[in-house]
Amino acid sequence: MRKRICASLGAGLLASLISTAVFAGAGHSHAPAPAPGHSHAPGHSHAPGPTPSSVTIGSQPVGGNVSVVMGLDGFAGGNVGVSSGPDGLLVIDDMLPGFAPQLERALDDLKTCLTCGDLKYLINTHWHFDHVGNNEHFGGDAVLIAHDAVRPLLKKPQNLKAFNMKIPAKNRDGLPDITFAMKSSVYFNGEEIQLTHFPKSHTSGDIAAYFTKSNVVHLGDIYFNGMFPFVDLQNGGNVKGVIHSVETALAQYPKDVKIIPGHGPVSNMNELKNYLAMLKATLNTVEQGKAKGLSLEQIQKHGLDKKWASWAWKFVSTEKWIALIYNSL
Ligand SMILES: [Zn+2]
Ligand SMILES: [Zn+2]
Repeated sequence: MRKRICASLGAGLLASLISTAVFAGAGHSHAPAPAPGHSHAPGHSHAPGPTPSSVTIGSQPVGGNVSVVMGLDGFAGGNVGVSSGPDGLLVIDDMLPGFAPQLERALDDLKTCLTCGDLKYLINTHWHFDHVGNNEHFGGDAVLIAHDAVRPLLKKPQNLKAFNMKIPAKNRDGLPDITFAMKSSVYFNGEEIQLTHFPKSHTSGDIAAYFTKSNVVHLGDIYFNGMFPFVDLQNGGNVKGVIHSVETALAQYPKDVKIIPGHGPVSNMNELKNYLAMLKATLNTVEQGKAKGLSLEQIQKHGLDKKWASWAWKFVSTEKWIALIYNSL
C-alpha cells in the first residue's frame, strides 16, 4: 500500500530547507542570504517559504528511454532520473518530502503507453532528505535499491549537523529492499542499467546509474553542476573522494554520455571536466594554505582565485566550500 507523506511534515521540512538552502532548479541562485540552519524540528517550522504547491515540477527528455524531472521555478530536491518504456517506470531519487503528488503526476505524464507498467524500481543515489523524501510514498509498490550504507541511515532518526536538521526514520516502505556494496545491474526497458558505488565521496553511500543504451548517467550529488558542492563530512564524505569519483566517472563513461547531475541543469563530459578543474584548483589553494600553517579562518580571509567566484551560491558560499575542503584534509 502506498502511504502519503504527512503534508505538514513535508511543508515543514521544505520550509526548513528553503531557509537554509536556496537551490535553484536551473543551478545558481542569488537570492538574499537565508539564516543558516534554524533549529525548528521538521513539521514545526513557521518560517515563511515556498510550499510544494508553489514550485512547478517539469520534465525534459535526456536520451533514449531517460528523462529528468526537476523543480522548474524553485527547489524541489535533487534531480530525478526516469526510465520509461514497455516494462514501466524506473525512477532515480524522489525529491523533498511533500512533492509526491506532483512527482506522481510528472511520472504519469512520462508513461509511453496505456498498457505500459507502473513504477517498478526506485533507486536512491544516497541517503539525503532531498533525494529520498518520498520513499515512503513510492517505495511500497516499487522495489527500492540503494547502497549498503543507505539503509542503516534511513532506518534510524538522523541529525544532519550541517543543516541543524533532525530527520525522522523511514517506515518499512521507505527503506531499501535491495542493497549492494560495489556494483549491481537492473535490466529494464530493453537495456542494462549499471549501478556503481563511488566510495567516500559526497557521503559514504553514493551510487551512479548508467543507462547503457540510452547513454545517460545519473551521478547523484557527486556532481553539482556549476556550483560548489555540499560534501557530507559527518557521514563519510570527503572532498578528495569527490575528486577521485569525478576522475573515475570521466574515465569510465563514454565521452558523449549525457549527464544528470544531483543538482543543476543536465550536463556533459566537458562541463564535468570544468567541475573537476574547479575541485582540483580550489583543493590546491587550501592545501597550500594549510601547508604554510594558515588557520581555516586565515585561508577563508584570503579566499580563492576570483575565477571561481561564480561557483559560490547561498547554500555553499566560498567560505563554506573552503571549510569543507579544509576539514577533508
Ligand atoms: Zn542533493
Ligand atoms: Zn546529497
